[in-house]
Amino acid sequence: MNYLSTRGAGAGERHTFSEILLGGLAKDGGLYLPADYPRVTPDELTRWRTLPYADLAFEILSKFCDDIPADDLRALTRKTYTAATYCNVRDDESAAQITPLKTLGVEDGAPLSLLELSNGPTLAFKDMAMQLIGNLFEYALAKHGETLNILGATSGDTGSAAEYAMRGKKGIRVFMLSPHKKMSAFQTAQMYSLQDPNIFNLAVQGVFDDAQDIVKAVSNDHAFKAKYKIGTVNSINWARVVAQVVYYFKGYFAATKSNAERVSFTVPSGNFGNVCAGHIARMMGLPIEKLVVATNENDVLDEFFRTGIYRVRKAAETYHTSSPSMDISKASNFERFVYDLLGRDPARVLQLFRDVEEKGGFDLAASGDFARVREFGFVSGSSSHDTRVDTIRDVFQRYDTMIDTHTADGVKVAREHLQSGIPMIVLETAQPIKFGETIREALLREPERPAAFSGLESLPQRFEVVPADAQRVKDFIVANTGE
Ligand SMILES: *Cc1c(COP(=O)(O)O)cnc(C)c1O
Repeated sequence: MNYLSTRGAGAGERHTFSEILLGGLAKDGGLYLPADYPRVTPDELTRWRTLPYADLAFEILSKFCDDIPADDLRALTRKTYTAATYCNVRDDESAAQITPLKTLGVEDGAPLSLLELSNGPTLAFKDMAMQLIGNLFEYALAKHGETLNILGATSGDTGSAAEYAMRGKKGIRVFMLSPHKKMSAFQTAQMYSLQDPNIFNLAVQGVFDDAQDIVKAVSNDHAFKAKYKIGTVNSINWARVVAQVVYYFKGYFAATKSNAERVSFTVPSGNFGNVCAGHIARMMGLPIEKLVVATNENDVLDEFFRTGIYRVRKAAETYHTSSPSMDISKASNFERFVYDLLGRDPARVLQLFRDVEEKGGFDLAASGDFARVREFGFVSGSSSHDTRVDTIRDVFQRYDTMIDTHTADGVKVAREHLQSGIPMIVLETAQPIKFGETIREALLREPERPAAFSGLESLPQRFEVVPADAQRVKDFIVANTGE
């Protein structure tokens, strides 16, 4: 399997899965994609239907990765997808399924269900891919006798998922910047209570953007970056996307009895990483009817799928909402879909994303390409705080099920795209306890708390407060890498 860049630099310059595993952007600023999407045969689909999650993950990953020996890859997926890791769920049987499907009911003739992706260590779907990345990174680094210092900025979900995936991993340290005193007590405790010596929490005196700017400044110091082996694990990482393909298959199998059936998925979206994996599953031949992109008030993607206009927002136009993990000004994985939409024409992708940088966006409304969006199954919708709260209340009253704010955005938008006879699967991206304030507002009660998290906020915390100054962060890295 060869990988190429969406912007086409060095045509003919191909890369393997392992080569792009630890990297981010391609050298030309594009994103990596496989040269061709592997197809699943009807026989494979039948055989995969009954596989445990870890073995399904092995089968799917094998199609994208031919430079890790099969036995090693299988051992990695089996080590990652265990009931013990995805145990924050109602019962053991659900934990064994890793991503259990929870049926809500039938609405407008369509069976409506939730695919639970947030039973992992940090209670958000990012664990699904990040846990695998932790094991893949450790494996790849050991093979070459290398080390890696992961530097990131987080406002919550991504940072904690990365820390829980990398804790205790050989050859890896994590330096995670978060805005001091700006995260919820629960999110802060999740990260800062980690005592592993390879995890460093840096509380930056500023807002999230200050933390993000420091990461950019340090990464732009190429000499420092090379000397201290600085890397990232952001949502454009290809292995993260491919790991997410697995649960679309798992969800399909859980919602259907035969491969003749089709299903639709609704995906609460921010950076387009999650739904990009759905697009790839569909390109592989999984019978997906619609991919519904659900956004919150930050509706960059909804606007595109309704109008053909992609218009990134300025920081001041980005709303802070009650589904904060979807608060984005531009969607970093979107370029992968645009590449396919334009018939894989790297010169046009390069031009369009130059327009994004120079003019703030592009307009495909008038081009024939936009019409093809529907051929790819895409539709969209958005939500607001009020519809979010109403949906949390409605799902609780009607189905006795508590959902988080992001999943509520998904259910709200899913209901606008139901088709009789076609199961609609909403991806559940986080558990309610992570966004307790809105749960209290909607339901006038406390969110459910998985047993493993009782007393989390009173555990001792380990973190370092630093000023919003890149040099101070560099000094900290130097002092803690022993080099
Ligand atoms: C990250 C995240 C999202 C958005 O996912 P993308 O891959 O960025 O589209 C949605 N919900 C939750 C809870 C998240 O943590």
